[in-house]
Amino acid sequence: MTYNVTLILGDGIGPEVTEATKRVMEATGVAFHWDLAYLGDGAQDMFGTPLPEHVFKSIKKNKVALKGPVTTPVGSGFRSVNVALRKGLDLYVCLRPYKIYPGVTTPFKDVDIVVIRENTEDLYCGIEFEEGTPETVKLLELILETKGEAARKDSGFSLKMISKTCSQRIVRFAFDYARAHNRKKVTAVHKANIMKFSDGLFLAIAREVAKEYHDIEFDDVIVDTLCMRLVRRPQQFDVLVLPNLYGDFISELCAGLVGGLGVAPGANLGEDIAVFEPTHGSAPKYAGQNKVNPMAMMLSGVMMLHHLGETKNADRLEKAIAEVIAEGKNVTYDLKPDAANAEVAGTSQVADAVIEKLDKFKES
Ligand code: NAD
Repeated sequence: MTYNVTLILGDGIGPEVTEATKRVMEATGVAFHWDLAYLGDGAQDMFGTPLPEHVFKSIKKNKVALKGPVTTPVGSGFRSVNVALRKGLDLYVCLRPYKIYPGVTTPFKDVDIVVIRENTEDLYCGIEFEEGTPETVKLLELILETKGEAARKDSGFSLKMISKTCSQRIVRFAFDYARAHNRKKVTAVHKANIMKFSDGLFLAIAREVAKEYHDIEFDDVIVDTLCMRLVRRPQQFDVLVLPNLYGDFISELCAGLVGGLGVAPGANLGEDIAVFEPTHGSAPKYAGQNKVNPMAMMLSGVMMLHHLGETKNADRLEKAIAEVIAEGKNVTYDLKPDAANAEVAGTSQVADAVIEKLDKFKES
C-alpha cells in the first residue's frame, strides 16, 4: 500500500530536517507518495502568500501531512501561518510526548510526560484591539460602562477566549488518549485563581469531564506551580492538558527536561486530519548549515507511522533513532554539548546513521 502524504518543507532549517526525515521514513520500507506543498517564506516567493490555498486542499485530500517548521514574522505581516493552518483545518489537539532517550544530556531521569495543548483558541484566537484605534476607544467605553472600570486610554488588547466546546473536546481527547495509551493520570493546567471566567471555565469543564473516566486519576495545578514542580520532580506528571498559551510554554519546558528541542516531536490533530511536526521552530540562524538535529522531526515521523497503523515500522524507526542517540557518535551539536565542532555530526549524517540502524533491525 502507498500512503498519500502532504509534505511541507517549511523554511529556515525546515527543508533540511524534512529531507532527512523523508529519507528515514522511506528507508523503513513503507511506501509514500509525497504531495509537495509550500508554506512560509518559500510560498511567499512563489505564490505571493505564505499560506496558499493548495496547502489546505492537499491536506484535506490526503488527511495526513508531515510538516517542517515555518517562520512567523514578529509584530507585523501575517499573524502566524502555523496558527492559521491549525485553525483553518480545526486541528484542535497539539499532542507532544516528551521522554528521555538514554544518551541525551539532561540532569533529569525517567521523564515521560505527554503534553496535550488546546490548539485553536485562548490568546491565539487572534482578536486584538490596537492602541489608539476607534474600535479600541469603543472597547474602553464598553469596559467602563459594563464593568465600571476605567482602563488606561493608551492600552492595546488581546482577547483571551476559552469556550466550553473547545475545553470539552480537548479534555476528552486527553482522557481518551490516557486510556488508549495506558496512562494513569491527567492533570489540567490553569490559572483559574486569577482568570475566573476563562481558565475557571476550562477547569470546571475538566472536572466535569473527569467524572466520566473513573479509571484515570485526575488532578489540576496552577501553571506557575506546575513550572516549579516540573523542574523539581517531573516524574510525578503523566498527561498534562492545557489551554493554548500555557501549552506553548510548558511544551518548551518539557522539551528542556528531556534533552532539548532536537528530540521533541509533535502532532496537530483534528477529527480526521493529522499534521505531524516537531515542537521546534525554523531556527533561521542555522538555516542551510547541515547542523541542526533532525530527530525531533524524525520522531514526529514515528508518530505519523503509528497514526497510519504502521506500528512495527514506527517501533523500528524509533529504536533506530534511540540507538543512534545511545551510541552518541552520529549526533548533532545539541546532543553533545561538550564536543568540539569537528566531533559532531551534521543533519544528513544523522539520517545516514539512522538508516544504517534501520537496516540492522530489519535483519535481526
Ligand atoms: P526555534 O525553535 O526555531 O529555535 C530556538 C533555538 O533552539 C535555536 O536557535 C536552536 O538553538 C535550538 N533548536 C531549534 N531546533 C533545533 C534542532 N532541530 N536542533 C538543534 N537545535 C535546535 O525558536 P525561535 O528561534 O524562537 O523561532 C524561530 C521561528 O520559528 C519563529 O519565527 C517562530 O515563530 C517559528 N516557530 C515555528 C514553529 C512551527 O513552525 N511549528 C514552532 C515554533 C516556532
